[in-house]
Amino acid sequence: MLTGTELARTLRLDMEAKVRELRAAGVEPHLAVVLATDDESTAWYVRSISRAAAASGLLCSIVDLGPEASAEDITAALAGLSNDPAVHGIILQTPLPDGVLLHELTPFIAPDKDVDGANPLSLGRLAAGQDAFPPATAQAVVALLDHHGIGVEGKHVAVVGRSVVVGKPLLHLLLERNATVTICHSRSHPLEQYTQPADIVVAAVGRTHLLTDLHIADQSVVIDVGTNALEDGALAGDVDPVSAGRVASALSPVPGGVGAVTTALILQHTVQAAGRTVSFKQPDALDSDLLPVS
Ligand code: NAP
Repeated sequence: MLTGTELARTLRLDMEAKVRELRAAGVEPHLAVVLATDDESTAWYVRSISRAAAASGLLCSIVDLGPEASAEDITAALAGLSNDPAVHGIILQTPLPDGVLLHELTPFIAPDKDVDGANPLSLGRLAAGQDAFPPATAQAVVALLDHHGIGVEGKHVAVVGRSVVVGKPLLHLLLERNATVTICHSRSHPLEQYTQPADIVVAAVGRTHLLTDLHIADQSVVIDVGTNALEDGALAGDVDPVSAGRVASALSPVPGGVGAVTTALILQHTVQAAGRTVSFKQPDALDSDLLPVS
């Protein structure tokens, strides 16, 4: 089982040490979560981020604008947080109020505080191979493979889903690591024609148990990003674990796989962003040595 809990714990421990260093330097890493919905599962997710932040010593502010918020209210909040030097990371939760479009809001998140890679500039920089925070879920897929010692270099990876939060950024992260990538979507028919030849299949669709043993080659690796709420409140992935588990060599569970790592990475990005605001003073003795010779 390609579980994410141990990796999330390692990331948290590493982060706690960095948070202590930053606090000693007078910087309190601070994540702001903006939401404009009364959706219960969003509220649950925000509470879980807030708890995880507190456990790692980060400050986490919830900016709840309510389900009646307008696009202007949300952009004003994002712009205000982007200009607030005490805030280091900003995430905007979905769903948004009816008629408010995500892509019109995300440009208001300052790229250096865009800890979930939502601003299109972050995706553009990622595509160009430049420094940017990747969307945490896409990065969690790669981190999970790394953690379990599964290299992607030279492998064929089929990613099912082409959203800007998972499929598209994952394409760039995988290409950067020299994988050969096939991106599938709702018009990729028959889906198994594209997923069967792959060494690694990543499912990021949002359809309960869409992928079965029909889609998975013998001994391939399967990463399930899907988090689909069932009627009884349980979570299910996009991959049928019983059917796919019969053929795959390894499979990530839902819950306890990618999702467990995602939150830890958002917090890690916030700590990294806070770290970039610290300027270390040169020792006095060195200052004169560094003066240009005239
Ligand atoms: P999304 O924006 O709705 O995108 C879904 C993608 O799946 C689209 O590209 C769509 O194709 C494709 N698709 C839909 N039906 C398909 C089919 N029958 N065959 C092949 N492709 C199909 O979803 P998302 O935001 O990427 O999320 C995907 C899943 O990941 C959801 O379950 C979500 O809850 C989960 N998720 C988990 C985390 C986490 O931290 N664990 C974070 C984010 C998302 P088209 O482009 O052609 O429409």
